[in-house]
Amino acid sequence: MRISRESVVYAMDKSNSPVMRVPAGTVVKFETVDAFGGQVREPDQPLAALDWSRVNPATGPLYVEEAEPGDTLTVEILSIDVALQGVMAAIPGAGLFGDRVSTAEVKLVPLRDGFAHFSERFHVPLKPMIGVIGVAPAGEGEGCGVPGRHGGNMDNARIVAGTTLYLPVLVPGALLAIGDLHAVMGDGEVMVTGVECSGEVTVRVDVAKGVSIANPRHADAERFYTIASHEDLDVAVRMAANDMLDIVMDKLLLSLNEAGMLLSVLGHAEICQVVDPKMTARFSMPKHFLSTPLPALPLPISR
Ligand code: CA
Ligand code: CA
Repeated sequence: MRISRESVVYAMDKSNSPVMRVPAGTVVKFETVDAFGGQVREPDQPLAALDWSRVNPATGPLYVEEAEPGDTLTVEILSIDVALQGVMAAIPGAGLFGDRVSTAEVKLVPLRDGFAHFSERFHVPLKPMIGVIGVAPAGEGEGCGVPGRHGGNMDNARIVAGTTLYLPVLVPGALLAIGDLHAVMGDGEVMVTGVECSGEVTVRVDVAKGVSIANPRHADAERFYTIASHEDLDVAVRMAANDMLDIVMDKLLLSLNEAGMLLSVLGHAEICQVVDPKMTARFSMPKHFLSTPLPALPLPISR
């Protein structure tokens, strides 16, 4: 199953017509367009000339037949293949240094031999990730540039191949859409772009019936993460940490104080991005820990 990069949306919206319907358990390949809508092809291309209505496209949406509001959509990321060229930008007024950037600039970054060739001097190992991945919100649609409880533009550098992402299902079919690949990106995305690129993402979608989550979560081989987005980064960090606190209290049958101290020891408050309309934080705990059979925990607790 393959969804062509011809099928893009610019908002996660329940009114978008699905481009494909599949049963839970299906493997689907999404062909994606970069965050500039594939419009930047030449170095020194004037950013002002871009059609900004074509920025942040996401491929889809995919309708997953069993998914109903109140369920959780499970998206197992099997592979992320990036194109042969990425693009970065400096944009006056945008990002953490926007007040110091006087000249707009684009940089083309060749992607080959496992590296992003940033310049003659700097060659950065590829670590492909998904910037935009989400479902349709229950109410008003949300532009693909905005993150939220539906997922969206979370720019979370841990959403890589081998990760399983859990999204709340908010409308029938969930309406999954994916875009904005980065060949590599640092936590924060401080200059507003990672190495933006088009590519292909292969996922297996599944549905956890009757499992309701308030915000996205994900897991890799090592750690389990909660994610939250808010206009205020402090609030986003609190939301993600509190979500994890509730999970740990519930899973390990701990008091709030005990669980909080455990998070203080083993948990990491981490930043996804600080440059989008809402900022995104994640909070992680060692995964093996949460799947430990109750009530006894192995000691010593490691990692
Ligand atoms: Ca992004
Ligand atoms: Ca991006």
